[in-house]
Amino acid sequence: MAKQNTSILIDTFGRKHTYLRISLTERCNLRCTYCMPAEGITLTPKEHLMTTDEIYHIAQEFVRLGVTKIRLTGGEPMVRKDFTKILTKLATLPVELGITTNGIIADRYIDLLKTSKIKTITISIDSLKKDKFQKITRRNEFEKVWNTIQLYQKEGFIVKLNIVLIKNFNEDEIIDFIKLTQHQNLIIRFIEFMPFDGNQWNVNKLITHQELLDIIKYTYPLQVKRLTDASNDTAKNYKIEGYKGSFAIISSVTNPFCDTCNRIRLTADGKLKNCLFSANEFSILEPLRANKNIQHIISDALNQKYKTRGGMDTPDKLHNPDLHSKNRSMITIGG
Ligand code: SAM
Ligand code: SF4
Repeated sequence: MAKQNTSILIDTFGRKHTYLRISLTERCNLRCTYCMPAEGITLTPKEHLMTTDEIYHIAQEFVRLGVTKIRLTGGEPMVRKDFTKILTKLATLPVELGITTNGIIADRYIDLLKTSKIKTITISIDSLKKDKFQKITRRNEFEKVWNTIQLYQKEGFIVKLNIVLIKNFNEDEIIDFIKLTQHQNLIIRFIEFMPFDGNQWNVNKLITHQELLDIIKYTYPLQVKRLTDASNDTAKNYKIEGYKGSFAIISSVTNPFCDTCNRIRLTADGKLKNCLFSANEFSILEPLRANKNIQHIISDALNQKYKTRGGMDTPDKLHNPDLHSKNRSMITIGG
């Protein structure tokens, strides 16, 4: 595939966006409280969602411009009926493919992920206790997710676990999660709870990067080792000396990593979002359907990207519901 003008992916702060995250659907087989508003969401009519070919076409354009990494997310990416077709097509592109899933039906796709050369799978699980898992996801599916985590490890995948930390909910399980890394080669990723429309966020529910480290160091005063992070990694990586796996902290709220951000997002209804926190959206699907050139949409989206968290550059701004609730709910953005 002939490469084109890669400078289109560079924003006004010199950040090159080589990582595209595609949301395949707004639907999900779980109802996580921090992601899906209690009243549910109004689903976009099917005719306004990207088809398999449209996803492929847009992804291909990004790869031509210089994108080297694509992650599939959602909603739950695997609930899309044409998931196999989409992944098979995207696997023909010269990019590193990744997927973030809740794991509920991931056992069906082991062979597909292998043939698509996906080596790492990220699975979300916020509690190791059945009742708490049900409380946060509003579904009784803990065992399925747990079995998927074991199955993927057995099948030779690198398994990362995403855990959204919420004060007075799962902070008492932080050490239990770390202990999983003693004998299993898991990468545990603790994520600071982020504010989005309808998710009842408030700063008192936040467990900060520093608080988390303090909790871990209380149990492991001398054994916490800082690891080298990959470039553009949003996670700060650590391990407990002598443990097989590792853990990481993703601190978008207290310690944003915007300076090295290389991500751009495509929603299931074909809008580009230049930042997870930004309410600005740029329709790429409409011009594509009208047979127009879509490069200038990509260029506009990146030229209008704020330096920090969609313009919420101070904690006060981020904590202000008038600002963060203008954005979509996470389930319709694609985390
Ligand atoms: N359904 C898949 C899953 O749960 O992994 C993929 C989509 S989900 C939106 C992607 C990631 O975003 C998950 O790891 C989820 O925990 C995280 N997430 C959702 N809402 C969040 C919030 N308010 N703060 C932090 N992380 C959040
Ligand atoms: Fe579904 Fe993932 Fe959102 Fe949970 S976090 S509701 S699994 S999309």
